[in-house]
Amino acid sequence: MRAALVETANRPPVMRDIPIPEIGPDDALVKIQACGVCFTDLRILEGGIGRTFPLVLGHEPVGVVQEVGPAVTGVRRGDRVGVHALFTCGACSYCAEGQEESCDTRKLAGLAVYGGYAEYMRVPADHLIPLPAGLDFAHAAPFFCAGLTVYAGMKNGGLRPGQRVAIIGIGGLGHMAIPIARAMGAEVVAVTSSPDKAEVARKLGAQHVTSGKQAGDDLRDLGGAHLVVDTSGSWQAVQSVLPGLRMQSALVLLAGSGQWIEPPVPTSMIGGRQMRVQGSFFGSRTDLRELLALAERDNIRPVIETFPLANVEQAHAKVRSNQVRFRAVLTL
Ligand SMILES: [Zn+2]
Ligand SMILES: [Zn+2]
Repeated sequence: MRAALVETANRPPVMRDIPIPEIGPDDALVKIQACGVCFTDLRILEGGIGRTFPLVLGHEPVGVVQEVGPAVTGVRRGDRVGVHALFTCGACSYCAEGQEESCDTRKLAGLAVYGGYAEYMRVPADHLIPLPAGLDFAHAAPFFCAGLTVYAGMKNGGLRPGQRVAIIGIGGLGHMAIPIARAMGAEVVAVTSSPDKAEVARKLGAQHVTSGKQAGDDLRDLGGAHLVVDTSGSWQAVQSVLPGLRMQSALVLLAGSGQWIEPPVPTSMIGGRQMRVQGSFFGSRTDLRELLALAERDNIRPVIETFPLANVEQAHAKVRSNQVRFRAVLTL
């Protein structure tokens, strides 16, 4: 099969013919139709995360079930599916408590095992999630990391209908967080430093848009944010919204974004405002099923730019330079 193979760290993926993976009794072989590109892919390439090469990247794969192992009952050949790419054990204390994103032996596809930048992928069949009928492959892919990460972040942050959420950064994650937060019943304030993204944020459903040093005051004037989700990784941007946080609010920091030495919130403020700083990483299969149900109900779609798999380098270059509006998706 054709695959974009990363042969060693700090080298771009190259198109190679590699064997189609063999599946075990509980696995499915998925014929990949599309796979989103995540900033995490670039960090793996640059040797920032993981060290196991050669590697096929890609943790937003979607496609059609080609073959299933003899013990598989939940899916069958021909099913349209997406891959929940965090493969978990199902047996550790975290999995038992329904917190599979913290599984003791979690393996992210495209990092610890071969991912979706290839014609076929081997997947434990219980990590396949059916796609809603009206959702095409290319638009489905970004739900499997970008959408899931922000949905689980807001859910873990305790967002409830009627609350006000500030979303910092309108990129691959932030642009999905706006309609998802609306679907969760929230009032949405987009925080962006790019004037051209303000209009986009409104089109995506944000009722308010603010930026820069004004953000904290604007938020306070609206009544304050119950929840803030940072997708920007910008220490300054987080700082600028702090004056607009309500008492007992939560600041959600997503794993992988924002590599700061100092925490962005003074500890005195956390105590004084009875705040929570909530970390969040990826999400569970339950989160993903809930998210896809919301997407189907409210017709949520990411804004994507597609590239054939063979043009993976071009896609990565555009993602690296922040030129993609808003999520790059490789198609096969
Ligand atoms: Zn990702
Ligand atoms: Zn586990």
